[in-house]
Amino acid sequence: MEKKLKILGMGAAQDACSFVSKLNSFIYLAATPGGYIPLLKVLMTNVCCNDCAYCINRAENKVIRASFKPLELSRLFMDLYERGLVKGLFLSSGNGIDPSLAMEDILKTAEILRKKYKFNGYIHLKVLPGSRLEYVRPACELASRVSINFEAPSQRHLSRISSKKDFYKIMQSTIEIKKYREKGLVAGGQTTQFVVGASGETDRDIFELMKRLYREIKLTRIYFEALRPLKGTPLEGHPPTPIWRQNRLYQLDFLFRYGFLDEELALAFDERGYLPKERDPKLTIALKQPHIFPVDIKSADYKTLLRVPGIGPKTARKIIENRKNGIRIDDLKKMGVNLRRALPFIKQGYQRRLFSI
Ligand code: SF4
Repeated sequence: MEKKLKILGMGAAQDACSFVSKLNSFIYLAATPGGYIPLLKVLMTNVCCNDCAYCINRAENKVIRASFKPLELSRLFMDLYERGLVKGLFLSSGNGIDPSLAMEDILKTAEILRKKYKFNGYIHLKVLPGSRLEYVRPACELASRVSINFEAPSQRHLSRISSKKDFYKIMQSTIEIKKYREKGLVAGGQTTQFVVGASGETDRDIFELMKRLYREIKLTRIYFEALRPLKGTPLEGHPPTPIWRQNRLYQLDFLFRYGFLDEELALAFDERGYLPKERDPKLTIALKQPHIFPVDIKSADYKTLLRVPGIGPKTARKIIENRKNGIRIDDLKKMGVNLRRALPFIKQGYQRRLFSI
């Protein structure tokens, strides 16, 4: 059993979803709506009829295969839960011999946990691409959070890394999940993930879909996973995606969710459609908008403060709450302002006064 758990835990490793640290090969500390909790993160099976070029579990690969039965996995989870080792479950799966059959096993496992064992804690379920649309509803009824991974930003890109995944069907399932969220299900939200650099996509390609997913689907979060080419996969010889590219996408994602305008965010890209390595998107955007700087900390509104590199939403709010009594340089530091980044964008006269205090 332990061997199987290790195989299927490691098989689930490529999903980034809100994990902050790895405690062992199958337990991860994760950020959930209820705070940080240890999750059992595991696949139902690593048998897969699909051929995703970045994935070690693709059908052709000669890897040790293993599968859980729903009752077996739910018992195992409850054992770990009762021993205090995990507080929730992240359950994904290879597509087995058919994605709908694999999805049925995911649903049965969650159903056993909810109904037989009365587990009412956190369960994150994957909706498998290609599984029947009618399975979205039970997934939404059973799970705290649901996700389906796009992996690539368009059908054109997805077809470069998988001959079987269908971008439009993934979008259909995504919209279906949204439908049930609007009815009050899946309070923990809906997420997706991109494998960055696997399909020849640019950052702008990802950004275009990201905007739609946040605006039209109201996704809770999008995760970005830099491609790490694995031995024995078709992408083995492909250069790995540098981790800074993944980080730049997360930084852009934050700016989008902070309410930066499309035309501002467009300034973050270079002429080829990538986010530069040399500086983060917020600094790139600020340097291309010299007309809004320097900002007067004493009077600037929240939106303007947020445009200053080194000032985030929390610090912008703290500045507004505290500035009526005057703000000293040390106060800005204590509020969390990154002074090295912020000072070049703050009104000079004020800066001098800050320094002379
Ligand atoms: S569907 Fe693709 S990513 Fe998922 S297990 Fe199969 S080959 Fe891997």
